Order: sequence, then C-alpha cells, then structure tokens
Amino acid sequence: MAYRISDDCIGCGACAAGCPVEAISEGTPYVIDEDTCIDCGACAGVCPVGAPAEA
Ligand code: SF4
Ligand code: SF4
Repeated sequence: MAYRISDDCIGCGACAAGCPVEAISEGTPYVIDEDTCIDCGACAGVCPVGAPAEA
C-alpha cells in the first residue's frame, strides 16, 4: 500500500514539504513514489483539496 495523489491536486506543494521521506515529486498532479512512501498519511493531512489517498 502507498498513498496516491489524484487529479484534484492544485500543485500547492504542501504535501511535498511535509513528507518525512521526500517521496513526493513536483508535477501535475504531484506524484508519490510508492516504493519510498511509508504510509504515514501526512500528505493527506496537509492537502487543501484532499487529493492524496491510500491506494
Ligand atoms: Fe510521504 Fe507520508 Fe504521504 Fe507517503 S503518506 S507520500 S510518506 S507524507
Ligand atoms: Fe497537490 Fe494536495 Fe500536494 Fe498541494 S498538498 S501539491 S494540492 S496533493
């Protein structure tokens, strides 16, 4: 399991700044590297549009 970012992403960058393992890369939408993600949920907690969700 890993988190994934949906097309609802508006590119604010808050998730990437808050990820403890730097698993999130800039893009449209932002992208989570599923091999690096440790499922902490921090990205989902900071996202203003609810784009990251457990996949
Ligand atoms: Fe990073 Fe945690 Fe989000 Fe995974 S769930 S991408 S480790 S902030
Ligand atoms: Fe996209 Fe949400 Fe991350 Fe902002 S916090 S870049 S809207 S996924």
